[in-house]
Amino acid sequence: MHHRKRILVTGGAGFLGSHLCARLLRENNDVLCVDNFYSSARDNVLGLLSNPHFELIRHDITLPLYLEVDEIYNLACPASPIHYQENPIHTIKACLLGSLNMLGLAKRLRCKIFQASTSEVYGDPEVSPQKESYWGHVNPNGLRSCYDEGKRCAESLFFSFWRENKIAIKIGRIFNTYGPNMHPKDGRVISNFIMQALQNEPITVYGNGEQTRSFCYVDDLIECMIRFMNTENDVTGPINMGNPDEFTIKELAEKIIADTGSSSKIEYCPLPHDDPKQRKPDITLAETILGWHPTISLDIGLKKTIPYFRSII
Ligand code: UDP
Repeated sequence: MHHRKRILVTGGAGFLGSHLCARLLRENNDVLCVDNFYSSARDNVLGLLSNPHFELIRHDITLPLYLEVDEIYNLACPASPIHYQENPIHTIKACLLGSLNMLGLAKRLRCKIFQASTSEVYGDPEVSPQKESYWGHVNPNGLRSCYDEGKRCAESLFFSFWRENKIAIKIGRIFNTYGPNMHPKDGRVISNFIMQALQNEPITVYGNGEQTRSFCYVDDLIECMIRFMNTENDVTGPINMGNPDEFTIKELAEKIIADTGSSSKIEYCPLPHDDPKQRKPDITLAETILGWHPTISLDIGLKKTIPYFRSII
């Protein structure tokens, strides 16, 4: 018989969190979703509210929280450059105080805890693809540093709890991910381009568009997260989670214009501060440890994502 687990998802009303909650419920778990709705939306979990195994708690994890659960996924943090730079001090608090509170909970409950880390720990990488053993190239005090250094320090905090208290930590470094439930105004490249294309507005390519990113469809990413959580206690990561297919931002713009049948034209705009020039995960570890590989190409993923944005315009 399936043992119904009680699982806490912080940031559960966000883009990734809402998909994770839905998946955990489908697998017959009880889900406690905690969110302060800073960069997320109650709408993302509206469809789950009628499920008796789902509980939505409005709370900011920079403040302590006492619950009884079997597993914790710590996803709470503004994650798009626009949102995390809006209130950088709060971003640092979410990374550090949030992690500290959740690690304290994991320590008391002796439960596994997944940490949503990020490809941003590599900064503007000098090597490609990025392996977990690469220490990164991060500006420690630039505009992105509240997030980059916050997430780096959070990794340090997780490893300190692991060394001191033998907590079962699972650190996933999440690369660019997209899909339904992305905030239409969070400034991400895929949401921006699709929203612009659907409204026949100019497609805002920052810089010359030669910078690269590698985009993972959300369902693939959630599968990877769950596989990681289900590993033995001694598997800590960090493990890169993402799709290694790399595209220039200009290529992405052209694809989205074609896929939406839009009459939009590309408009070149200034490049944001410290914008990484390239990003592509080496996913050998995820493949060998988790037996995971992304299954959804960018072409197919975009076709699944565009109708969502069409529905909310
Ligand atoms: N970008 C762009 N136009 C936009 C939004 C983003 O050209 O309207 C670029 C951005 O400069 C970066 C890439 O797309 O090089 C990915 O940006 P995003 O904010 O999605 O995520 P990041 O990987 O930078 O955190």
